[in-house]
Amino acid sequence: MAVHKIAELSKTLLKAVYSFPIRAFSGSPSLHSDGLNFEMNDIQRDLQQLGRKFARETIAPNAAKYDLSMDFPMDIVKQMWELGILNPLIPEKYGGPELGCLGTCILGEELAWGCTGILTASLTNALATSPVLVGGNDEQKKKYLGLLCNEPAIASYGVTEPGAGSDVGGLKTRAEKKGDEWVINGQKMWITGAGKASWFFVLARTDPNPKTSAGKAFTGFIVDAKTPGITVGRKEINMGQRCSDTRGITFEDVRVPKENVLGTEGVGFKIAMASFDKTRPIVAAGAVGLAQRALDEATKYALERKTFGTPIINHQAIAFMIADMAMGIELGRQLTLRAAWELDQGRKNTYYASIAKAFASEHAAKCAADAVQIFGGNGFNTEYPVEKLYRDSKIMQIYEGTTQIQKMIIAREYIGRMKNSGM
Ligand SMILES: Cc1cc2nc3c(=O)[nH]c(=O)nc-3n(C[C@H](O)[C@H](O)[C@H](O)COP(=O)(O)OP(=O)(O)OC[C@H]3O[C@@H](n4cnc5c(N)ncnc54)[C@H](O)[C@@H]3O)c2cc1C
Repeated sequence: MAVHKIAELSKTLLKAVYSFPIRAFSGSPSLHSDGLNFEMNDIQRDLQQLGRKFARETIAPNAAKYDLSMDFPMDIVKQMWELGILNPLIPEKYGGPELGCLGTCILGEELAWGCTGILTASLTNALATSPVLVGGNDEQKKKYLGLLCNEPAIASYGVTEPGAGSDVGGLKTRAEKKGDEWVINGQKMWITGAGKASWFFVLARTDPNPKTSAGKAFTGFIVDAKTPGITVGRKEINMGQRCSDTRGITFEDVRVPKENVLGTEGVGFKIAMASFDKTRPIVAAGAVGLAQRALDEATKYALERKTFGTPIINHQAIAFMIADMAMGIELGRQLTLRAAWELDQGRKNTYYASIAKAFASEHAAKCAADAVQIFGGNGFNTEYPVEKLYRDSKIMQIYEGTTQIQKMIIAREYIGRMKNSGM
């Protein structure tokens, strides 16, 4: 059927179903030019190539070493800073590359192929800078974003506590106003980069009334890591992503100047949550990168390994595992890019960010598990690359909101859309 005939048919059908006027489809240049488009532009392709080269030449060859030593990969972080990719979200105005969420995801997927431990260790800066980008004023941005651009420094996002992760409204850390200062007391847990950070984003309860809603009870602060009263705990020994520096932090009468309040008193919860709109697509991109690595390793191995006189790839059970991995990777990538693109268009992307994060992280864990299966006994051994992928993948279903929490958000957003549409 000719294109214009399909368009005519579509118009008729749409008019029959909906009662709004349909723009002309056939003959409209926008149908074929600036509408849906899966091509990267030259800058995006260059960024992808840069990330790919850096992951293959610098990150991947060092991944096992850092996994074993659990040392923080400072030399790689320095190289990322020199390349200008350590703080991808920071606008040019404050000294960053201003890659946007989409550019950061394109880059992040490539870096993750090399090692998601090194990715988490370095791109914790994206998580820490997001609240400042969301709620900070110009002075705060110049000072704290500028600091990260001027030297290879790390910053951390401090929200989770020993007693509350998913339930952010249950945080116990308190901040009380005393004159021109705020005094913070409490404990944070699982803070990425805490042992290396020059400053933290800290979310604390500023309204002690338990009846005050989370949206009004918390305030976000930028806290210099060297402030007296801060004690950073021991490095946690985690299942995977072992070179990333995860620690608890204790705050005892930590005095923070009022200039370091992000936004205004009481809006911290909203700032902390809005930050995830920027960073969940990046976690999803990391998960896609890990899944792609699992698929690449598994395919290579299945082409070489023989059983019953033939490479195992010729067994349909193995080929179908490869196909399932590929299908989910393609889906996860499109979801991730969509979530990032929506944000860069200036639109609320919470729904897409949670879908991308939940789907891509679940699929990454499945790909890593299937890759181990395809490697057989070798998959269980540290001489081969896939057991690390298996361990590294698990955290992606947990940090920046577990899969269960993403599903709660997706359902809430979808139900909200339905109600708003008048159903
Ligand atoms: C390596 C690592 C790095 C991290 N980095 C940071 C960081 O930099 N900054 C930071 O602030 N935090 C960080 N975190 C914390 C992380 O975000 C939390 O661990 C995560 O949000 C889950 O919180 P939780 O551990 O308290 O689990 P809980 O909230 O106790 O959840 C336990 C289980 O219950 C489920 N659950 C909880 N509530 C519900 C519900 N309503 N419905 C259904 N299921 C539910 C969860 O999905 C989970 O399966 C990090 C954690 C780790 C392990």
